[in-house]
Amino acid sequence: MDFRLTDEQRLFRDTLRSFVEKEIVPVAREWEQSGRYPTEIVEGMKQLGLFGLAVPEEYGGLAADTVSFGLAFEEIARGWMGIAGILGSHSVSCFMLARHGTEEQKQRYLPDLATGARRTGIALTEPGAGTDLQGIRTTARRDGDDYIVNGTKMWITNARHADPLPVLVKTDPSAEPAHKGMSILLVEATSPGFEVTADIGKLGYKGTESCEVVLTDVRVPASQLLGGIEGRGLQQALSSLETGRINIAARSVGIAQRAYDEALGYARQRTAFGRPIGEFQAVEQRLAQIAVRLQAARLMTYWAASRMDEGVRMDTESGMAKIFASEQALECAIDSMRIHGGYGYSTEFEIERLYRDAPLMSIGEGTNDVLRGVVAKALLSGKATVR
Ligand SMILES: Cc1cc2nc3c(=O)[nH]c(=O)nc-3n(C[C@H](O)[C@H](O)[C@H](O)COP(=O)(O)OP(=O)(O)OC[C@H]3O[C@@H](n4cnc5c(N)ncnc54)[C@H](O)[C@@H]3O)c2cc1C
Repeated sequence: MDFRLTDEQRLFRDTLRSFVEKEIVPVAREWEQSGRYPTEIVEGMKQLGLFGLAVPEEYGGLAADTVSFGLAFEEIARGWMGIAGILGSHSVSCFMLARHGTEEQKQRYLPDLATGARRTGIALTEPGAGTDLQGIRTTARRDGDDYIVNGTKMWITNARHADPLPVLVKTDPSAEPAHKGMSILLVEATSPGFEVTADIGKLGYKGTESCEVVLTDVRVPASQLLGGIEGRGLQQALSSLETGRINIAARSVGIAQRAYDEALGYARQRTAFGRPIGEFQAVEQRLAQIAVRLQAARLMTYWAASRMDEGVRMDTESGMAKIFASEQALECAIDSMRIHGGYGYSTEFEIERLYRDAPLMSIGEGTNDVLRGVVAKALLSGKATVR
């Protein structure tokens, strides 16, 4: 195992780091609190090619290795986690399209998705089903050369900018088991009956919208069926969430890093009883604990990412990294808040955004409780080992 980044990865990280320092850090607090859409940051990310992170080179993308992919999310989340959301579900969908799409679908969408000329997201969750995706109610009934889609999707990140939006549907609602009747349709935003009906109010993860999407008799050409074969939708979506978990783990590392940076700076400059608070043992202990958690989360995330680059199936590894890193992000944010004393509760300091953003990391791409079950099953069945 090699713990060093390659020269290329370091260069990529440094480029992103300076972009984040220049374009994101100075505006994050104000724009996040005012609810302003970060249009200029999106333009900057387009110029850096970041919308093509998960797009193969032959379609104009960067085809980043998984460690670099993680580094991008880590650096951006250190500046403002909500911005990472703009790239997150876009990248999951690009990955899914590249892996499972027909050649015609890839030619049609991937070049524009790589540049950010088109953007996307992924619509799996519904008001009544999140973890239990086989319980979705959105249906797609075949009618000649089209499907007629009806249903409601919930919490769809990037919904107002996604075109096409991959939507998980039931093409055969009576199939047993249910996943055999599930498919993904690439729904274009201009389709009559496709409507983004509401932006959901959120504790954090601002800067990107998460919406309710209603589909009413939306006519979708059969050529928009991902991969061209019905019944593969759930597997297509779940296999693409592997990269999604790396991106969540990496975002968690970014949040933890920022929590550490803020805590360190504050511990040095804040004085009490005539000395910097960093000299009090209780503060030292907390600071060291943040650093330990951060570094452990980083190593685990890079390890899981590098396993993926070896071509090894790594849902267990990415799940483990996601569980661990997200829990650390939360702890680091809370500990950093405590080091800040009363100012940790102030909207004039960065730290309050971090502990509003951190909890989502334990929910997105599979809740940690559910993922623990997935990891345990892989271990118990012998499909994965830890030693
Ligand atoms: C800000 C935000 C953005 C999102 N963006 C998107 C998006 O772009 N696209 C999208 O499709 N979805 C998105 N989601 C939805 C997200 O993926 C779901 O919220 C998540 O999968 C959990 O589903 P749920 O909310 O329905 O919770 P539920 O599945 O109802 O879970 C509720 C509780 O029950 C537990 N639970 C459920 N099943 C089990 C089980 N089998 N074993 C143990 N515990 C269990 C869960 O761990 C949790 O504690 C987003 C959510 C948020 C909050």
